Amino acid sequence: MMKYLIFLVILICSQQSVAQQNDSLFISNIYKEALSNGECYDHLRILCKEVGHRIAGSAAADSAILWGISTLKRYNLDSVYTMPVEVPHWVRGSKEVGYYTYSNNKVELEIVALGGSVGSERAITANVIEVKSIAELRLLDSAMVAGKIVFFNKAMDPMLINTGAAYGGAYDIRSQGPSEAAKKGAVGCLIRSLTLADDKYAHTGATNYDDNVRKIPAAALSSVDSRELSRLLKENPRLQFTLHLTCQNFPRKIQANVIGEIRGSEFPEKVIVVGGHLDSWDVGEGAHDDGTGVTQSIEVLRILLALGYKPRHTIRAVLYMNEEFGNDGGKTYARVVAEKNEEHIAAIESDGGGLTPLGFNVQGDEKDLLQLREWGKLLEPYQLYSFRQGWSGVDIGPLKTDSNVLYGLSVDSQRYFDFHHSNNDIFENVNKREHILGAAAMTALIYMIDQK
Ligand SMILES: [Zn+2]
Repeated sequence: MMKYLIFLVILICSQQSVAQQNDSLFISNIYKEALSNGECYDHLRILCKEVGHRIAGSAAADSAILWGISTLKRYNLDSVYTMPVEVPHWVRGSKEVGYYTYSNNKVELEIVALGGSVGSERAITANVIEVKSIAELRLLDSAMVAGKIVFFNKAMDPMLINTGAAYGGAYDIRSQGPSEAAKKGAVGCLIRSLTLADDKYAHTGATNYDDNVRKIPAAALSSVDSRELSRLLKENPRLQFTLHLTCQNFPRKIQANVIGEIRGSEFPEKVIVVGGHLDSWDVGEGAHDDGTGVTQSIEVLRILLALGYKPRHTIRAVLYMNEEFGNDGGKTYARVVAEKNEEHIAAIESDGGGLTPLGFNVQGDEKDLLQLREWGKLLEPYQLYSFRQGWSGVDIGPLKTDSNVLYGLSVDSQRYFDFHHSNNDIFENVNKREHILGAAAMTALIYMIDQK
């Protein structure tokens, strides 16, 4: 009996190690295929240079949808289709002017309207009142704020090594600052850009007006201009600032998520979804945010097909429309999945930029974390060491149920906010190798989930 048990243990262990060897070999083939024949960087170039930035609701976003369909159709997928998504339609307008007059000199600044900002028929010229936070503004008497432009000069905390946390800590000035300023009678709002870089790029992003408060025009200033404006206001608190934005909101319209899939050979009704968002802000080229994520997701399917892999579960790449301005693509996808009663066992997103991958975050329970760490051992040769509970992605967030697991590609985020939502987010700022390594890492994780 004892002998039989020992034999059984040895047999199971050797079978496990054979399985692990097979997995290691397959993962090494994934990396070889990605690094020698990778196509995602070329796709990114076309998306950035031929489609360009592509805010939801725009004609460019329509072109991006066509780009997504034709790019997915290059491969021998089982199906490529679109899913209608209703999106907002906000247009920046041709005029974006911000300047102050100082010693009779007009000093023009590079400004960028916040997404969703209202415009004004005429330029607004007013004194500026600087605050460091919404809390500080709330303490001020309305009489001190009324008729002025509120300038939120709140920096992302440079002490936080997790730059996403630094962004989260300063994000309120952009999302709520304009309405908070209007509550005190302000006529306009300026914010310091949400970036850790010390440069002249202004960074946009959505603002969320409170429906019960008058909507006032709102724009971002670069970090360098914010510092200079703050210095000048100390010298001359009566400094006059002129702000003129001509952005407009139009009725919502229908665009689409773009989807490509390989049907599962054993469990076609069970889906593993990988994706990023197809829309971007209407500045730069939406390269890191999130051209890299959508092209990596397409690359995952390409690599699996190139290796002749027959997935057990259905593997689906989703290019979500409108993450930036209300997450319509992600919400619609989750709603349709629920209506169709489709089972999603896992969802993976890349939306932290096409930077050096470090590992994966998992949104799941302790058991899911332990499983990810177990898989992570096979990823150590590829210098992936970070496997933690944490943020996955905005688009896949609505898919979370008690029975599935969400994963986010974790990347070196120190430079991400140098690019994010600005004219600096261009193709040239994406490194080919880092971009491809992210796609390979996602393919390896999906392979392991599929084999489980
Ligand atoms: Zn993004």
